[in-house]
Order: sequence, then structure tokens, then C-alpha cells
Amino acid sequence: MQSIKAAVCRAFGEPLVIEDILIAPPGMGEVEVTLDAVAICHSDISFASGAWGGHLPAVYGHEAAGIISAVGDGAGDFRIGDHVVVTLIRACGSCPSCAGGKPTVCETPYDTINGPLRTVDGGPLEQAMACGAFAEKVVVSHRQIVRIPETLPKDLASLLSCGVITGVGAAVNAAELRPGQDVVVIGAGGVGLNAIQGARIAGARRIVAVDMTEDKLDIAMEFGATHGVLASLKQPWKAAYKALGGRGADAVLITVGAIRAYDQAPRYLGSGGKAIMIGMPHSGDMSSYEPVVLAALGQGLIGSKMGDVVIQRDIPWMIDLYEQGRLKLDELISGRWALSQINEAIEDTKTGAAKRNVILFNHD
Ligand SMILES: [Zn+2]
Ligand SMILES: [Zn+2]
Repeated sequence: MQSIKAAVCRAFGEPLVIEDILIAPPGMGEVEVTLDAVAICHSDISFASGAWGGHLPAVYGHEAAGIISAVGDGAGDFRIGDHVVVTLIRACGSCPSCAGGKPTVCETPYDTINGPLRTVDGGPLEQAMACGAFAEKVVVSHRQIVRIPETLPKDLASLLSCGVITGVGAAVNAAELRPGQDVVVIGAGGVGLNAIQGARIAGARRIVAVDMTEDKLDIAMEFGATHGVLASLKQPWKAAYKALGGRGADAVLITVGAIRAYDQAPRYLGSGGKAIMIGMPHSGDMSSYEPVVLAALGQGLIGSKMGDVVIQRDIPWMIDLYEQGRLKLDELISGRWALSQINEAIEDTKTGAAKRNVILFNHD
């Protein structure tokens, strides 16, 4: 075991504690990645607040990029020195979901308590989301990582491991948007802006962003939204119909956690439309809808985890889009912070004004 620095959650709702932890060398099929960057996602904040339960102490963080520093046996063709993004999608590769092309919902459980992390005195330490990337290094399955060009800055690359694939993937893989379709995206935050980009890349005709402030709607327009609607309106779907020439949307992508958005989402749909549930409400939050309307109009409610991506297929595609100027990454970052500033970065993310805050590791 080697000692590294990490931001550890010791109590839900309390600031993370920067401390030394122990990390095991990579086992069968695993690699060790020395991280350059990790972005802060609302999922990390939900976990740290206790919204989804889980064991403590724990290390969160799951949107990371770095360089492979050790390789276990059976880790494919990965080598020390490879530049990679690290995702939370620890797919086994052989269960029915993986074999059926949906590794994001792999059915083989992974024991995050008995993973590679221990507290400095040898006690249990949860490797949350199979990553534990609020730390200088991670040990993960080779199936969780994708090689990237050395020239792609790691702060930009880290965004590809969650927010970007979740948003773009939801539009392309889950909603299966076709050119000419109309889309509503609820929420113009880290995932929502990428859902907007995904809809644009898929060739959507009109893209209506729905959010709480004019500022967020202005940013949404920069990412490809054609119209903006304030969520604070009494019946925001009526403003969306107007933007869509009097009809409902072919797809509504719900990228926020607020449960009200899920209650309202089917109202934005036209005949045959699909509501794609992407955001992650707190456990126990319930939503209601009118089944007869869905049946009569042939509409669908679909959950989408991590954009239904196959990372080995979709991340190289998105890197090409970025390099061709067809996918925005630079504009998604609102702040860069040191690991020692992680609690400030989390507070800034909680305000909802930030896009993505990224922690940069300083290795010297
Ligand atoms: Zn995330
Ligand atoms: Zn599997």
C-alpha cells in the first residue's frame, strides 16, 4: 500500500477532510492512474450530503483524467504512461446488460468497501462510485478508462468522463434524436448544456432550454439552444409550445434533480414524444403523471444512466468533435482549484451558478 492525499468524507453534510490515505497496487484487470484533474459533479455533492446513503468514511470524485502509473495483470493493452480519462462505469463485460451493449447498467456488483482504499491506520474506506477520484491516484478496472491524446488538456478531458457523456449520450443514445426533431432540455447546468450540445449535434430543429434565470438561458443559447423559457413561469410548457410553433416536443431531457421538473416533464411532449430522465433526484423523491395521456398519445418515460454510453466508442468520438470545433469543452469550466480548496469549490458548485469546477493536482 502507498500513501496518497485525498479529500475524505467523514460525516455527511460536513466539509471534506484532506488527509493521507492508503491505496493498494492494481490487481487483476486493474490500473493505477495518477490524476491531473478531477471535476466536481452534483452526484458527488449529493453523496457527501447523505442524500443517497452509503458508507463512511468515503472518497468521492468520479470525473477524472490522468496518466497510468502502474498496470496489473490482464489490463488489456494499457501501458504505463498512457493518458486516460477515468469513468465510474465499472462494467464486467459479460453480464446480460454488458453483452447486450448497455455497460452503464452492468449487473455485476462491485464491492466498493473492499476496494483498493484504506484509511491511514488500515481501516475501511469506501471507494465511492468505484472511483474515489478526490485523491492523487485511483486504482480502477481497465474497462473504466479510455486512452486520450496527450495533447488534450486533462481539465477538459475530465469533463468527458461524466457530464459530457451523460448529456450528449442522453440526446443521441437514449432519446435517439433524428435530424429535424424538436427538443426541450430542462436545466442548463453541467449536464443540461451537454444535452443541448447533443441535440444540436444530432441535428435537432429547435432546442428549447428551460431554467430558472435569464443568465442560464443566455449560456444555453451559446451551447446551441434556439429558445429559452423561464422555469419560474406558472406553465412553462406553454411558452415551450409557442417556441415550437404550437406543438409539443419530440423529446424532453430532464437534467436536474428537482422533482417538480419530473412532474412537469410529460407536459412538454407532443404525440409520440419521449421524456428522458437524466438528473438524479434524492432517494425517496416521488413523481406523478397521468398514465392515460401517455397511453393515448403514445408517449414514453425513459431513464438514462451516464448517457447510455459505450465509453470506448463514444469518448473517442466526442474528442474528435471537440478537435473539429463541434463540441464545446473549454466553455464548460467555470473555475480551477487545488485539492486543498475542494470545499470552496463544492460550495461554489452548490450555488448553481457554476458550470464545472475542476480540481487540478500539483505533482511537484
Ligand atoms: Zn458525475
Ligand atoms: Zn456487466
